[in-house]
Amino acid sequence: MRPDRPRDPVAGPDSGPEAPYPIQLSGPVIKGFGRGSKELGIPTANIPADGLSEYPDLDVGVYYGVVALDPRQFSYEGENASATVLPAVLSIGYNPFYKNKMKSIEIHIMPRLTEPSPTAQVDSGPTHFHKLPDFYGTPLRLLILGYIRPEYDYVSVEALVEDIRVDCEVARQSLRRPGYVCYLNVDADADEGVGEKVQRWRRWLTEF
Ligand code: ADP
Ligand code: MG
Repeated sequence: MRPDRPRDPVAGPDSGPEAPYPIQLSGPVIKGFGRGSKELGIPTANIPADGLSEYPDLDVGVYYGVVALDPRQFSYEGENASATVLPAVLSIGYNPFYKNKMKSIEIHIMPRLTEPSPTAQVDSGPTHFHKLPDFYGTPLRLLILGYIRPEYDYVSVEALVEDIRVDCEVARQSLRRPGYVCYLNVDADADEGVGEKVQRWRRWLTEF
């Protein structure tokens, strides 16, 4: 069960990702179990889990990071010249379909940090999560930058949805820090002042 205490607003060291992060995963967006949107109202893009074999010790749980979609197949709000890098919250867990033997990767993509967050609580109505047009089959690249929390059992679907809403906000606040936001801003001359390692990661993210 979830410990009954307030949640930290950020996760991971302020200075930036520390080993084993960033963790790179990629693949085409595949069909999941159809649970994300239908049952919880949270669409999660699934990619094949093969890449996880490189990280056998990776804990199951909720993580944050950045993603890009192949701009030849998906243009974010009409931007189509180069890939847009967006904040993401993701869960790595066991796939109940395969008798809990296989991990699965479920990625929820959020709006840019400069855009309003639908999960920043403004009233007490139902939570709405960010929804894009479907992009099944589109190549996706993901850099995991930090760990948020383990998976818990919940007393209700509402309690789970509320925890995921907070995960989204923790991810956004965590990514706003200078040691992380440099992974999101991949535009034009933004390479200035960014270390060579970060530049390499950014190139990997966006060069499809
Ligand atoms: P599935 O079980 O097939 O993964 P979901 O209900 O989890 O179905 O919906 C995921 C699909 O929704 C993604 O593959 C993608 O095409 C689309 N989608 C729309 N908005 C988002 C978003 N914000 N984050 C992730 N996927 C999204
Ligand atoms: Mg899904």
